[in-house]
Amino acid sequence: MSQIVTLEQLKQTLGAKIAAGAKVVAPVLDGEFASFKEISDVEQASFVPRVCMQNSIKEFFFPKHETVFTFVRQGADVVLNDAPEFDVEQIVVGARPCDAAALPVLDPLFGWDYQDKFYQTRREKTTVVSFACTKTDAHCFCTAVGGSPENTYGADAILFDLGDGSFEVRTITDKGKALFDGKTTESDKVGHACDAPVVDFDVARISDWIRANFSSPVWEKVSLRCVGCGACAFVCPTCHCFDIVDEGSYNKGKRVKNWDSCQEAMFTLHASGHNPRGTQGKRQRQRLSHKFVTYPDKFHFYLCTGCGSCSRSCGQAFGVRPCLEALDKESAKSEQ
Ligand code: SF4
Ligand code: SF4
Repeated sequence: MSQIVTLEQLKQTLGAKIAAGAKVVAPVLDGEFASFKEISDVEQASFVPRVCMQNSIKEFFFPKHETVFTFVRQGADVVLNDAPEFDVEQIVVGARPCDAAALPVLDPLFGWDYQDKFYQTRREKTTVVSFACTKTDAHCFCTAVGGSPENTYGADAILFDLGDGSFEVRTITDKGKALFDGKTTESDKVGHACDAPVVDFDVARISDWIRANFSSPVWEKVSLRCVGCGACAFVCPTCHCFDIVDEGSYNKGKRVKNWDSCQEAMFTLHASGHNPRGTQGKRQRQRLSHKFVTYPDKFHFYLCTGCGSCSRSCGQAFGVRPCLEALDKESAKSEQ
């Protein structure tokens, strides 16, 4: 038998969590667009599975701007104070499977040579409830990197929209079970995700091509459309570059982490004026190499869940999928 939760029961469950002081994040509509936002009332949320989101859930684990510590000068001393810990329960509901799948991809990065307690604490305190996909678009390619429209990787529970004001609930972890414990009823209804996106390129073959073609002129050719705005990195659930800067004055201030992007020209600009990645081709090579060679070599995951957000957000109709398709053609030529 399946476990079913009605939309009203789901709203009551989340409403009770908000009333108890939890932070609840859900898709919120703004005109025709939807973004993941913290809600203070369940009626602010849209509980409809969506392909296109304006942001990913990563900012609720790895914020755009985060204080590491504050400092204040007292006489000859400088007093440092750690930033307050994230100490509330957090529930992220409505994640796409390709959003949730980014979390286990990022876990080893934030728990590797440096244990990032900011990320790790948010991960421990968060329950992720994803929606199985009900449609895909031309930008989706989760299947090329091991995902699917009903992939449960990174989710604590997944909801299947039954189209009648209720969802089939499949709990994956103890956190997911705890959230829905006593909130569901048994039913013989079974939810289904949409068909998987069609993918006609081979990521493993492209990875091999990237490995063997660091100096290829193809990088400049395929990157001509890219203007280096960095939008693709900011919407990406797996991109995680950040910069650390001190803000304030000599006497008082804070050290902060801010999101950054390897697609921006200043990312690698040296004080001397030299830039080792001085063209967009070199910057795209870095992005693709990191996602499909360096990261999987180190952590055994592609640094990409195939969500397609980079392409949907790109003003130049570029992003990772068109780049992979162009490189796939090159790798096919190399095999001939
Ligand atoms: S691929 Fe598109 S979104 Fe990304 S940096 Fe280039 S122009 Fe901007
Ligand atoms: S690179 Fe593009 S397709 Fe891959 S996870 Fe990031 S936004 Fe999604």
